[in-house]
Amino acid sequence: MSVVIIGAGHAGTTAAAALRKFDKDIKISLFSEEGSIPYQRPPLSKKTIFSDTQNYDLILGKDFYNKNAIQLNLNSAVKEINPVQSYVRFNSKEIIEYDQLIIATGTKGYELNIPGGELAQTLYSINDAQKIAKSISKAKKIAVIGGGFIGCEIASGARKQNKEVTLLEAGASILGRSVAPIFAKSVSKYHHSQGINILTNCKALSINHNGIETTSSIISADLVIAGIGVTPNIKLAVEANLDIDNGVLVNEYLQTSNENIFAIGDIANFPFNSDSGRLRLESIQNASDQAKTVAKNIIALRNNQQFQSYTPIPWFWSDQGDLKLQMAGVGNLNAKHHVLENQTDGTLTVLHLVEGQLVAIDTLNHGLNHICGRKLLSHKKPILIDDIKRFKGDLKSLVKELN
Ligand SMILES: Cc1cc2nc3c(=O)[nH]c(=O)nc-3n(C[C@H](O)[C@H](O)[C@H](O)COP(=O)(O)OP(=O)(O)OC[C@H]3O[C@@H](n4cnc5c(N)ncnc54)[C@H](O)[C@@H]3O)c2cc1C
Repeated sequence: MSVVIIGAGHAGTTAAAALRKFDKDIKISLFSEEGSIPYQRPPLSKKTIFSDTQNYDLILGKDFYNKNAIQLNLNSAVKEINPVQSYVRFNSKEIIEYDQLIIATGTKGYELNIPGGELAQTLYSINDAQKIAKSISKAKKIAVIGGGFIGCEIASGARKQNKEVTLLEAGASILGRSVAPIFAKSVSKYHHSQGINILTNCKALSINHNGIETTSSIISADLVIAGIGVTPNIKLAVEANLDIDNGVLVNEYLQTSNENIFAIGDIANFPFNSDSGRLRLESIQNASDQAKTVAKNIIALRNNQQFQSYTPIPWFWSDQGDLKLQMAGVGNLNAKHHVLENQTDGTLTVLHLVEGQLVAIDTLNHGLNHICGRKLLSHKKPILIDDIKRFKGDLKSLVKELN
């Protein structure tokens, strides 16, 4: 039996390791268009670009692949999937056949489509990080376009290096799409107190070697970094005629519209009880958990056993200066927000509630509440605000009572 995996990011690599754990005989071929042994992306924006970029964090040990008979093909972009004859082509002639295929091609950054947009550096790969690290070490004034998690991490790290930092956000608030407004406000206040100049409702119009012209002012900068979001890498899947809609559509077993092709990680759009009934996540939790589920399902397919559904409690983290942000669950447009009482200095916990029921939780420097929040969200019975109020915001005691 042969499994081919396209993409050796967190999802593809974890799937390879999980498959090997479950079955020592499967032939596993992992293709990466990058040249580096698979590495972790989260540290890139948190520490790599501010440090010696030769030391980056691998996902698995560099000998893992050889030792576990996983054929890791670096610098080997897959060019075509042939779903009819079940093979992938990775250069002009070479093909490799599969019984099952896993697409884990992740995302690519949006291009900054403004005059001079090419002058802005972007961060996705270790190569980008090495380039940005060099530029940061030389720069005095840095402008970061995009107030999402990655933009905020880059801005706060650069500020810690005593750079003059401006953070531009087109929306009304940083982290506007990701956390409760009151939570975003608190993070924004912190960055402001550290000396980051945050400009909201501010769009970059053009970039030149002196900085950025925006809708409200001219910002002087000798380095511009853009973190304006990513889009799923769907080219191969489109050409293979798989069903697509904001990523590759998969069922609850992570199977695409072709039963022998699975999709996982940032690229997979899976069924979920959300506003649209589906979700595509960009997180390590999702990449890693989907990888383990898909490995189980491929083994199940082989042994004629039942598939396992992917039913996550999504969670995510971001490190920004002295702040650790941890988010669990999925908020929605109708959610109301409730700040927990009894917070000690520098911590914050915000609950997202829909019709009085807990659907997500954002915590700032409060790992315990984050873990408790995940336990509450995964509890079989819905957790109501009245339950939480009964314990005066002491989530640990509530978890204890429920167990
Ligand atoms: C700077 C940064 C910071 C982040 N911080 C956090 C964080 O703090 N917490 C968190 O949960 N998540 C974070 N993320 C997101 C997280 O890294 C991603 O969700 C995760 O890496 C997704 O894994 P993936 O394997 O689906 O995709 P990716 O990691 O994007 O890997 C996909 C791989 O497929 C390769 N590929 C694409 N096309 C082909 C092809 N045709 N042939 C061969 N290979 C191909 C790509 O080159 C890439 O190596 C961060 C991401 C970045 C970029």
